[in-house]
Amino acid sequence: MRVAVVGGGSIGLAIAWRAAQGGAEVVVHDPEPGSGASRVAAGMIAPVTESHYGEAALTPFMAASADAWPGFARELETASGLPVGLRDVPTVVVGIEDGDRAEVERQTELYRRTARGVETLHGRAVRRAEPLLSHRVRSGVVALEDRAVDPRAVHAALLIAAERAGVRFAPEAVDDRDAVDALDADQVVIAAGCGSARFGLPVRPVRGVVLRLRAATEQAVPRTTVRGYVKGHSVYIVTRENGEVVIGATSDERGFDRTTGTAGAAHDLLRWSIELVPEIAEYHLDEVSVGFRPGTPDNLPLIGRLDPRTIAATGHYRNGIALIPATASAVTALLRGEDAPGTTAFDPARFAAPGFEGRVEPRETPFSGPPDTRVPGGSDSSRADAHEEES
Ligand SMILES: Cc1cc2nc3c(=O)[nH]c(=O)nc-3n(C[C@H](O)[C@H](O)[C@H](O)COP(=O)(O)OP(=O)(O)OC[C@H]3O[C@@H](n4cnc5c(N)ncnc54)[C@H](O)[C@@H]3O)c2cc1C
Repeated sequence: MRVAVVGGGSIGLAIAWRAAQGGAEVVVHDPEPGSGASRVAAGMIAPVTESHYGEAALTPFMAASADAWPGFARELETASGLPVGLRDVPTVVVGIEDGDRAEVERQTELYRRTARGVETLHGRAVRRAEPLLSHRVRSGVVALEDRAVDPRAVHAALLIAAERAGVRFAPEAVDDRDAVDALDADQVVIAAGCGSARFGLPVRPVRGVVLRLRAATEQAVPRTTVRGYVKGHSVYIVTRENGEVVIGATSDERGFDRTTGTAGAAHDLLRWSIELVPEIAEYHLDEVSVGFRPGTPDNLPLIGRLDPRTIAATGHYRNGIALIPATASAVTALLRGEDAPGTTAFDPARFAAPGFEGRVEPRETPFSGPPDTRVPGGSDSSRADAHEEES
């Protein structure tokens, strides 16, 4: 079978790799693979602390994907020869002031509905879990089964693993739905992140700023992922084995604007994260980057058939890294002509207008393009005026 994958972000590459392993001839169409959200993401694999009210349909799929990650990472590292930075460390969620602690309690109720390990800690126990927390933190909640991975390392490994499995790359954009129909393939998978709107799929860009800092070898770094609320604002801190510390994230909807408000966003993220983990003030600020989460009207992904030849695998919003393994196995099942268990709620047909015949109405949006990441001392993000608990 000949398969064309439109979009070489982490979702598209994982599908391409798995399909090629299954014997398909695969071509990935993308002018700049890895230039989208996958490059900006923090990398939390958080089936517990990424649960949100109104998104219960995602819980089992997130759980399945999180459980698949260790095996997926091992296989990917073997296939590519590159590490992917999977860290099996828990997430500690804390608040400093009364209102923030109340928010943590409210979230904990939701966390417990996932039926995964959640523990409330008081007093010294919370700082034993994460010694770098501010002394003002007096309690917290630990999500024992959340993990994190390095999304840039994952993408680099996927590129090599896919190539070694025989995937070919066509370095051009696919312009519209007619161009999709003209691709020389038996099956086409649309995995173009925010660029998927170009093909009529209801995907919108939800802008987010993250900071990348670097600790010197002698500096202490958080050993857990820290999430917290500071005066009503949420922030997270994700640490990598190599001393990189990622702080995120803002969330707002201003189309593909990469430039305005970035100074304010960096200021806010630093202020809040330093309140939780004062040591952060001692690190080097490496990078401020802006990305666009592919959001859908109900914030659930679009995974399923658009017509007998075309499959959607997009709209992963704030969980696209966490959902790589589950999405790849669901889409490869569809390619084999089988059902994809656990994806009924993600069927693109849920947004179909009356008279829908396998397509969602076309809507013009610009090519999502690169995230425009700037380095040393540069900044490039958004005013954090709509902060919510986002990854
Ligand atoms: C600030 C921020 C923090 C995040 N943190 C997390 C996190 O901690 N955990 C988590 O699980 N998720 C996180 N996410 C979400 C995650 O990054 C996305 O859900 C995921 O990367 C989507 O992957 P993708 O491959 O679908 O899209 P992308 O990575 O955006 O890739 C899309 C690809 O399609 C290509 N493309 C676009 N249009 C076309 C076209 N017309 N023709 C050909 N190719 C095209 C682009 O060049 C790009 O390479 C975060 C996102 C942001 C912005």
